[in-house]
Amino acid sequence: MTRFSIFLSDLIKGQNTLRYLNRFERLRDAPRSETEAYRLARLKQLLVHCERDVPFYSERFRECGFSAEDFTSLEQMRIIPPLTRKDLQDHWQELIASGYRNKKLSAGSSGGSTGQPIFYRKDSRATSAGLAAHLLGWSFSGWRMSMKGLHIWGNPTTVNEEWGRFTSRLKAKIFRHHKFPAYTLHDGSRLRDLYDTITREKYDYIDGYTNAICHFAEYLKNNNLVLSHPPRYVLTTAENLHDYQRRSIEEAIGPVYDTYGCSEVNSIAYECAECGLYHIIDPHVYIEYGEPVDEAGNREVYVTDLDNFAFPMLRYKNGDMAIPDEGSSHECSIGFSRLRAVSGREVDIITLPDGGMLSVPSFFGSMLLKKVNGLKQYQVEKIDADMLRINLETSERFLPADMEIIEEALSEYLKGRIGYEIRIVDKIAVSGSGKFRLVVDRTKD
Ligand SMILES: [Zn+2]
Repeated sequence: MTRFSIFLSDLIKGQNTLRYLNRFERLRDAPRSETEAYRLARLKQLLVHCERDVPFYSERFRECGFSAEDFTSLEQMRIIPPLTRKDLQDHWQELIASGYRNKKLSAGSSGGSTGQPIFYRKDSRATSAGLAAHLLGWSFSGWRMSMKGLHIWGNPTTVNEEWGRFTSRLKAKIFRHHKFPAYTLHDGSRLRDLYDTITREKYDYIDGYTNAICHFAEYLKNNNLVLSHPPRYVLTTAENLHDYQRRSIEEAIGPVYDTYGCSEVNSIAYECAECGLYHIIDPHVYIEYGEPVDEAGNREVYVTDLDNFAFPMLRYKNGDMAIPDEGSSHECSIGFSRLRAVSGREVDIITLPDGGMLSVPSFFGSMLLKKVNGLKQYQVEKIDADMLRINLETSERFLPADMEIIEEALSEYLKGRIGYEIRIVDKIAVSGSGKFRLVVDRTKD
């Protein structure tokens, strides 16, 4: 990838990634006060737009007594109630700004760790800004655009429907960013394929699902395989990175740099090689925190995307927890604010009888959710070593055709390696602690 290839891609897609990237890079190197002034001005612009053009917020601001015109300091944001996943489920149409209703918006959906499908929209500016923030964030590790990489990603639906397209293949070539389907890694033969691919192609970096990469690292160790040209950067994302996983990946593959975002708000924070913490991309997102919930100092995250004017999400409670870095002595040349740790992207893994694994959020990932109507909540129970029970809470919009889509996807994904039954339930019960669990392992209870 080069700045020129981004320029071309922007031109073809009508995006402005390069403009955002230049802006974010300038602010990275600017005094802290300049980033803060930029962020405050941007927030004000977004809030005024919300009050005037977004039906959901016109009403919400009136209810809570917030006036965008009077907004002068970040503390005033606290008057606005956080946006919940339930708000997104129930009111997503009213969150589309009036001037954007007839424009081409990309539709997104996500299941995440909560098992509640939600829907959102982005215009090309929001997408461009997310990509620019992502490129800047990766550079905190030492990664550079010109490097050659392998992307380990995708559930069967994404791989079958998107990766085969000509534009997708062309992009992989131009950007020197190859792709490998993450879900096939349960299969021993594909693990070997991945080893052979990395050995042959000599990638500078690999990136992708934390658990898939960790599974590969374990495979290398168990089979005494050593990479002759180990990648210099392993960029993990989308799932919690536990310490044992970091160790495992670093022993078998290479140095790990974790990245944090969610599909509703891309590119939030990136681990930095210099200070070892996560830097928030301050000109792109504004993060607030709830009260500490445990001794470690984990707090709920409320995120505001400063670049999505088509579908504004203010103080969005995405279900994740983080530990903000307050008053640390770690010096760093990057002035953006920092997180010590991120958690809550709990990926729930089910171990299959043949030793493989099923990552539930990646299976139900956005592509499948987009195709199925009327799914309110889902949960996977492992009721036996070789049997799963899939509970679905549905609305009247859920039709037999939707069930067929789920069954087809399940049989393709599981390939008979574990049995399953699907149950439609009135209400999925929460656990004793009151927390919803996406995956319940009855064999461990
Ligand atoms: Zn740093």
